[in-house]
This record gives sequence, structure tokens and C-alpha cells, in this order.
Amino acid sequence: MKQSAMFGPAGFPTSFFDTKKYKKNRVNAAEWLHDIGLDILELQMVHGPRTRPEVAEQHREKAEEFGVNFSIHASYYCVLSSVKDDVVERSFASLAKTAELAALAGASRIVLHPGTTAGGRENALGRFITNMQKFVANDLPDGVHIYPETAGKVNSLGSLDEILTICREVPSCRPCVDFGHLHCRQLSELETDNGWTFTKPEDYIVAMDHLKANLRPEQWEEMHYHISPIEFTPKGEKKHRDHGELISEEDADPMFGKPGDPWLPVAEHFARALALTGYPAWVISEAADSMDRGALAMKKTYLSTTEDTE
Ligand SMILES: [Zn+2]
Repeated sequence: MKQSAMFGPAGFPTSFFDTKKYKKNRVNAAEWLHDIGLDILELQMVHGPRTRPEVAEQHREKAEEFGVNFSIHASYYCVLSSVKDDVVERSFASLAKTAELAALAGASRIVLHPGTTAGGRENALGRFITNMQKFVANDLPDGVHIYPETAGKVNSLGSLDEILTICREVPSCRPCVDFGHLHCRQLSELETDNGWTFTKPEDYIVAMDHLKANLRPEQWEEMHYHISPIEFTPKGEKKHRDHGELISEEDADPMFGKPGDPWLPVAEHFARALALTGYPAWVISEAADSMDRGALAMKKTYLSTTEDTE
């Protein structure tokens, strides 16, 4: 059986540091993934690309040894949509450094938040695209791609439409679709939002068919996803919940579900949709300090659904 979907955590959960064998040392990430049966890990450089080059090289060696892959989440302070020239300059430098480390680590995917909509959404989108085109032409190593991510906050740049526009204008970009984020944009009245909710496996198939229809084949083949159960307000994302966490009496709200229901979106629903379609995906669980459990639950659902349908 060909496994077209890969699963893994966003960074390192407490359980990694609690296991003696790995000596709290992140260079043992690949071995840990292999031991617990996961395929990928998203290295978090969200406060800046501070990983030492030797460590990045060790990541590549270990990834090859243990047959796993890495992606990288770029810094939150990398804001290519900014109206401020100094911010854009610093963002270029940070992203270039991240891309260099990605090449050393053998990580082919860098996830990036498109950033602010200050100065108006249309203008911000235009600036992001122009700056990204410049970056790709000058500073992107071979074999590395940038993945602008859908935003959880409605006021940030990154509705699904905006991400697809970026990928149309900058063909070497690919989308990072965060289903938690799309789910919590459901109350948004923006023209570029579609009010999607993710309550069952079929909802993901509709969304993926839309992606497939709107991307170049090489972009579609290298799709990247994030997922986590999420609490939100009309403005969007409020906080990530734990994998498998149930809605308490106190948190109950018709918008989220009944007390005792799981917080949405449910990662296993997405895994089932992937198994039913065979669509290509790298899927990163961003559940709050349970991203390893989230990824493992998805892989289990994926493999058992694939067996049932064969
Ligand atoms: Zn995300």
C-alpha cells in the first residue's frame, strides 16, 4: 500500500523531553519520530532562525538514517506584507537565514504567516506577492518551497482565497492550509471567506477538491496542512485545544457544540478523508501540547481506513 499522507507534530511535546533516551536533545527528533511511528516534524523557528548550522546538518543526517522528513515554521516576525520598509528588510534577512537552515536540514518546506493587513487587505496582499516574488528570485535555495499559511485571525492576511491568489502569482509557493484556522473563520463576513465549517470527513473532501481545482499539479502534489481543535470568537482564533479534548459545560456554546462533544475540527475526520481519497498531504498536528497524540491518532485512523477500503 502506498501511503500518500504523512503525519507528525508541530515541534516537541513534553513527552519527548520526558523520555530519557532522547536526552532532551532536539537532534534526536528523527529517532523519536521513527520510534513512535510518525513520519514528519515541523521544526519551530517561530522566534527567529537561531538553530546552529551544525545542528541543522545533524537533522538532515538523522532524517536520512531514520527515514523521516522535516518542515520548518518560519518566524512570526517575518512580515512581508508590512508597510514599513525596515520590517520588510528584516523579514527578508530572517527568511533567507531560515531557507539556508532548511537546505542544510534537508527540509523542503517552510511555513510562513503572510502577516498584517495594515494599510488595507488588497494592498497588503499586493505587497506580500511582490516581496515574495523578489525573495524567490534571489534567495530561495533549490528544492525548498515557501508555504504561506491560512490565518486564524480574520484581520490577518491569509483567507483561503488570498493564499490561493499568492500561489497563483508565485508558482513556487504552495499552500499551508490550517483547518483549525479555516474552521474559526466561519463567522467572518469578508468577501474572501467562504464560511466553511469542518464537522465531518466529507467537509474536508469538499475543501481539498477546491484546492485541487485551483492549484498547479506540482503545488497540489506537495500540499501541507495543519490541524488542531480550536476555540474562536467572531474575530477568529482564540486558542488551540488539546487533541481529543471535550467541550465542558462551562465552554458550551452552540457555535462549538454540546457539552461532551469534541472540540472541532477533529483530526481523525481529516485523516479519514485523506484515506478515502488517497490525496497527497503532509499533516502537522498543532493540538496544544498533545501534537504527538494528535498525529498518532490521525495515522492510526488513516491506516485502518485504508485497509478497510482496499
Ligand atoms: Zn497552523
